[in-house]
Amino acid sequence: MSESEERYQRVLSQIRHAASIAGRPRESVNLLAVGKSKPSRDIANLYRLGQRHFGENYVQEALSKQERLGAFDITWHFIGPIQSNKTKPIAEHFTWVHSVDRFKIAERLSQQRPDFLPPLNICLQVNISGEDSKSGVELDELPELAAAVGQLPGLSLRGVMAVPAPEDNYHRQRQPYRRLREAVEQMHNIKLNTFSFGMSGDLKAAIMEGATWVRVGSALFGER
Ligand SMILES: *Cc1c(COP(=O)(O)O)cnc(C)c1O
Repeated sequence: MSESEERYQRVLSQIRHAASIAGRPRESVNLLAVGKSKPSRDIANLYRLGQRHFGENYVQEALSKQERLGAFDITWHFIGPIQSNKTKPIAEHFTWVHSVDRFKIAERLSQQRPDFLPPLNICLQVNISGEDSKSGVELDELPELAAAVGQLPGLSLRGVMAVPAPEDNYHRQRQPYRRLREAVEQMHNIKLNTFSFGMSGDLKAAIMEGATWVRVGSALFGER
């Protein structure tokens, strides 16, 4: 087995294991492979092993990989910070965006989504670790933002995304995800069923708290 295949199999088995402990079907947890700063050939390798969903953080880097990998049947997710002058290529070249945290960005993505494509799938990024430096809407402003974004015709609002402050302790890893999941479950006007929770270091905690996408970079591609 190649090194990349070993890493891939290890991540898949972690997901399987966590889903089974959580009493959830394996298929309810989707793997998003995060290729930021890794070359296109690493993505091609993982594709050949069966991976189809890939996430990118930087627009220029993503577009150049998409061009090189044009022959591959990849579903692309944008997961990085979004500047308003970069919304057009994101609206045109991705199927999912996990990192929308303000209405203005959502509105631009909706306007710029080409008519011939299905609505862009959106997760709202929520700031659940309370750090000033982190992007994301505050939890108490989430219902209002969700209601507004849910009205935009070019978008399909699916759920929430979170990147908590790094934490080694498993029980503490679960807390911010649990708070966010419970807040979403209490939103009555809008039903969201997508939870983009968890990275290489906290997969199990995220899956225990309902992750439907785990965004994994270093555990698949090696350290950056
Ligand atoms: C880089 C990144 C990931 C993947 O992180 P790893 O720790 O390498 O698995 C996931 N989500 C976001 C938003 C990222 O920027």
